[in-house]
Amino acid sequence: MAKARDIGDNNSFEMGKPYYCKECKRNHTKGKIYKEHLNFAQFKSQSEEDFEEEDTELTNDKYDDEAELIEAFDELENDENNSEFENQFDDNIDIDNEDIDNNGGAIQESINAVKKLPGVGEATLNKLIKAGFSSLESIAFTPPSIIQDESGLGEKTTTKLIKASMEELNIGFKSAEDVWEHRKNIARITTGSQELDDSLGGGVETGSLIEFFGEFRTGKTQIMHQLCVNVQLPEEKGGLEGKALYIDTEGTFRPERIIQMAEGLDLDHQKVLKNIVFGRAYNSDHQVLLIKEAANLIKEQNIKLIVVDSIIGHFRSEYIGRGTLASRQQNINSHLHDLLRLCDIYSDLAVVVTNQVQSRPDVFYGNPLKATGGNIIAHGSTIRVYLRKGKGEQRIAKIVDAPHLPEREAIFSITESGISD
Ligand code: ADP
Ligand code: MG
Repeated sequence: MAKARDIGDNNSFEMGKPYYCKECKRNHTKGKIYKEHLNFAQFKSQSEEDFEEEDTELTNDKYDDEAELIEAFDELENDENNSEFENQFDDNIDIDNEDIDNNGGAIQESINAVKKLPGVGEATLNKLIKAGFSSLESIAFTPPSIIQDESGLGEKTTTKLIKASMEELNIGFKSAEDVWEHRKNIARITTGSQELDDSLGGGVETGSLIEFFGEFRTGKTQIMHQLCVNVQLPEEKGGLEGKALYIDTEGTFRPERIIQMAEGLDLDHQKVLKNIVFGRAYNSDHQVLLIKEAANLIKEQNIKLIVVDSIIGHFRSEYIGRGTLASRQQNINSHLHDLLRLCDIYSDLAVVVTNQVQSRPDVFYGNPLKATGGNIIAHGSTIRVYLRKGKGEQRIAKIVDAPHLPEREAIFSITESGISD
């Protein structure tokens, strides 16, 4: 049997090999990562995360003997077949947050939509729900092989269900009038800086993928934090009265900063933290899965903003060398398309990502900095904002690639209470 490995401390994670995962505190079985990760792909709100912090140190110490580790691994594999596991799994599907209006209603609505798909009877519906596919979005977004494995449904049924869900969600061709209808619903989240908002045409818009790229310490992560707070504001204050979902790939999310920013706006920081659903992605596969899982949460949790900070980091460190470039670009591309599809389906959802820039010392004129990810990411994002440092707390943002906005620069500041002019 392959040796179990620890996902937290190295990059040796490979799809299909067992490893001990610190995050969900269990061994993952071969090829079963999707289902098992539902445990923690089911993001937590930041205050729950704080609350649980004390036992996050429960790690490999428990398993210092390798034989014991493998034994535990086998045991967990068996567990999957017993009812206790089923119950635990069902519990996790239940999302319980008293802050959301009509939460139960939204879930029921999603299930009803699945029920209406052609060929879905009671048995199929139950299989789908049990496997966690309780919305059209989750069916349309998940690769057929995963739906098959998880639900036990056949290939033909799965293909039909995906196709029908996509049709139902209007993924595919539509008239320009539909597109206009979609764009008319666009709302905006304030960044906290009037100037930056103006350059973005009134703030970060929904229905588009927005990329903030720049060097280290140019404020990318700060803007992501601020948007998570601001999205919760009422509309007249520049928010969308919704929750944020934060995918952190670099370990730089800081609830302390959220508290400072919430206080800067006179908001109850406890509530603000609670409305940020947080997921830490430990590798690129996991990052991709979190986004697929997010498709399920958007309606149920009233999510209006998705943040991925940063989008390329894991891909860059995992695919090293020229030979891997093609598969790296392919995987980034498919991940970006998952995000773009979310923007397409939910006209009231904003998706914002950050991207590091690479220094190219061989360039002597022009801008030696260039966003990583090459052309793929440039074409995938709908609006790109280049950030650079100004004096002291000042930062300069330049809109470089927006289909409907002029190129212009905005100066903003990063202060203790957040982003401002
Ligand atoms: P990156 O672009 O690498 O994600 P960050 O968004 O983390 O950069 O920005 C880091 C910068 O944010 C720091 O250099 C500092 O100027 C500013 N900053 C961070 N925390 C605070 C704070 N509490 N008060 C004022 N400025 C802060
Ligand atoms: Mg950062």
